[in-house]
Amino acid sequence: MKAFENFEIWFVTGAQLLYGGDAVVAVDAHSKEMVAGLNQSGRIPVKIVYKGTANSSKEVEAVMKAANNDDKCVGIITWMHTFSPAKMWIHGLQQLRKPLMHLHTQYNEEIPWNTMDMDFMNLNQSAHGDREFGHICARMRLRRKVVVGYWKDASTQDRIAVWARVSAAWADSQDMLILRFGDQMNNVAVTDGDKVEAEQRLGYHVDYCPVSELMEYHKKIEPAAVDALVAEYFKAYDHSKELEDKQTEAYTKVWNAAKAELALRAILKDKGAKGFTTNFDDLGDLEHDGFDQIPGLASQRLMAEGYGFGAEGDWKSAALYRTVWFMTQGLPTGCSFLEDYTLNFCGSRSSILQSHMLEVCPLIAADRPKLEVHFLGIGIRKSQTARLVFTSKVGSGVTATVVDMGNRFRLIVNDVDCIEPKPLPKLPVASALWIPQPNFEVGAGAWILAGGTHHSCFSYDITPEYWEDYAEIAGIEMVHINKDTTIGEFKKELRMNEVYYMLNKALN
Ligand code: MN
Repeated sequence: MKAFENFEIWFVTGAQLLYGGDAVVAVDAHSKEMVAGLNQSGRIPVKIVYKGTANSSKEVEAVMKAANNDDKCVGIITWMHTFSPAKMWIHGLQQLRKPLMHLHTQYNEEIPWNTMDMDFMNLNQSAHGDREFGHICARMRLRRKVVVGYWKDASTQDRIAVWARVSAAWADSQDMLILRFGDQMNNVAVTDGDKVEAEQRLGYHVDYCPVSELMEYHKKIEPAAVDALVAEYFKAYDHSKELEDKQTEAYTKVWNAAKAELALRAILKDKGAKGFTTNFDDLGDLEHDGFDQIPGLASQRLMAEGYGFGAEGDWKSAALYRTVWFMTQGLPTGCSFLEDYTLNFCGSRSSILQSHMLEVCPLIAADRPKLEVHFLGIGIRKSQTARLVFTSKVGSGVTATVVDMGNRFRLIVNDVDCIEPKPLPKLPVASALWIPQPNFEVGAGAWILAGGTHHSCFSYDITPEYWEDYAEIAGIEMVHINKDTTIGEFKKELRMNEVYYMLNKALN
């Protein structure tokens, strides 16, 4: 199954009957050709469906209501071929609950200087029709994306594609269930937050799932299924020959890790969950078939499959990771949950090692990951523990986190450059090494001023525009730390946002 084949984006063309039936017929034909062109470009991964022209308030309202009620529809693109008086959009737009994109384009590319007459002008009025539409969206304070460009241009299509991916991921998060196996790590502030507000604002639902319930699944895993998964590991990952020796503790640890993965996958599937969190202090009772080690290998592999994951009960990161994974499906370079692990002061090349004790997604690996077993002296069950070890690709990407500021969620986004790490012979974990933009001092400083977590969700395949679209759809604050960031301006932005969101809350 293709990633986004269950989704559609609806394309609605604004017009009116003032110019006569012939004009509407032409508008319709042009719109069909444009939608077909967008679909055939191969650049937009969600199918665009042309929904006809909207020529009256009743027609606008009907298509908006239909969009709301169609689960396949993840968003609406509007475009005004002719002048479309915008009062007729008010009732429909008031009801629209799906993401909105306003495309400012034109059917014809260049002005046909020698042949253009008044009939042509009556038909091709996007230049002012889209301004009329823009006004009513602005006056109604509607959150939307405005894309400006010729519809056949790759750059225009790519901006539509970003929004299409984000809108699909938004739809995915509206029935997202995150299961928490165990609670937050005690006393940790930044990974916690208001789960009620998260459901209202971001769509996803977070449930507690007792580890004892997970253990009911663990108990029932068939040894033959575990054997098969272990064989799959040995095929998929580099490993030492000794690891295959069934008499060793290391083999037993790999086998038990595979059993934990099957139990986790079974309960997630059974409950329809799209993500989960773990807590290294809550692994079940060993006397009653509890995990003998932190299920880190399972978390790594489930992340690669698209399950959201947050360590230490971090449900916001679990949901955000699922969203990053979902919107980047089919893109080549990968994404992962990561943690700011340790600092590397090195002048202008100062960087941050990104890792976790175990749980880093192999999608970002530069080479085939290595399956290893080492002692892990953390959590309730200090033990030899299976994990995938690798270093990440070199290249630029974007990392993001969501924090709860008490009166709102803040999305913090940072452009980062992953650089070549040095070997870590005594620290066998998966890792990345990055320099945050614009440099370590300003990047880390701004992140800390904004209250960002030590956990974040990273992708090589996205641009900050993805998060801009996401924040716009969700209606949450976003601050973006990038090559142009200065601490002075950034602090001003945080202060201004404080006032804006306080007023916004009071007005809504
Ligand atoms: Mn952590």
